[in-house]
Amino acid sequence: TDRIRVGIVGYGNLGRGVETSIGLNPDLELVGVFSRRDPLSVETARPETPVFALSELDGLTDAIDVLILCGGSRSDLPVQTPELAAKFTLVDSFDTHAKIPEHFAAVDAAASAGGTVAVISTGWDPGLFSLNRLFGEAILPQGNTYTFWGRGLSQGHSDALRRIPGVAGAVQYTLPSERAIERVRAGENPELTTREQHDRECFVVLEEGADPEAIRETIVTMPDYFEPYNTTVHFISAEELARDHAGMPHGGFVIRSGESSPGVTQTIEYRLALDSNPEFTSSVLVAYARAAARLAASGTTGALTPFDVAPGLLSPKPAEQLRAELL
Ligand code: NAP
Repeated sequence: TDRIRVGIVGYGNLGRGVETSIGLNPDLELVGVFSRRDPLSVETARPETPVFALSELDGLTDAIDVLILCGGSRSDLPVQTPELAAKFTLVDSFDTHAKIPEHFAAVDAAASAGGTVAVISTGWDPGLFSLNRLFGEAILPQGNTYTFWGRGLSQGHSDALRRIPGVAGAVQYTLPSERAIERVRAGENPELTTREQHDRECFVVLEEGADPEAIRETIVTMPDYFEPYNTTVHFISAEELARDHAGMPHGGFVIRSGESSPGVTQTIEYRLALDSNPEFTSSVLVAYARAAARLAASGTTGALTPFDVAPGLLSPKPAEQLRAELL
């Protein structure tokens, strides 16, 4: 078979999403999941998916075309991506924006020395949003770029709520401010403060006897996390939290608004509305894995980002079919 053979490294939310996404892409074949944990303790979404110890990757350079790295950006990927890029073509979704240059340098050194391809920071932000910021700037050099996030579950802000004494459970959604989006869409090119660009919505389960008004006050005055924003707090039951807030929705907008000549406003808008942030990120990783495998087969080496990968390589369709159907 000439299917692209894929290994998943790390099995959390993204690992599970990649496993599911590979099932939707007949040109890809899943070799297995590679985990740092005892393989017997890792329960995959599909019972037929083989699970191996990460150390078993060593002997498999000829059996795998591309690895999809699904570890966390904080401590997994800074170690795993350079280490594995020395031997395998791979993709990751490293999303610590400020550290992308140093991650790129470490991965590029390893991939160049190893003769592999490593596409870093795929996903949606960084990833698809980055591409759309680039298109906007390149096409409309005179203008402003806006990124709005949400409606999306924020893990960090949910954790901050849960640490408040008297809170039994909580989730926080970041919302793009409708008013701010309308001003941008209207071509006003506004200077927007943090408070104006996003709102925060909290769903909180109280411990027995906790005072809702005191807790609301603690939340809306919390520096950095909530104080700078319009924050609304809803008190709900533990049942409602479990029933209505178990998903991981996210998304947002990238908008470029500029003038091509005085008084002629041009606006570009790109929107994502995601029921599941990890499943979507995984779908992007899978498309970039296809591109990485093709680039490696054609002799490319070194680290790349989504800026460097030609869009046609993401598609399973050959170039002539894409020209006939989509151009
Ligand atoms: P996660 O669920 O926490 O998984 C991260 C790693 O933790 C897994 O690879 C797994 O490695 C380990 N793990 C998972 N479940 C475990 C458990 N029950 N016990 C012990 N270890 C466990 O993280 P995620 O939600 O998949 O996200 C991964 C990264 O994706 C995030 O850090 C984020 O930076 C990035 N991301 C990027 C974008 C983007 O747009 N670019 C969007 C979303 C997320 P082992 O199997 O080796 O133990």
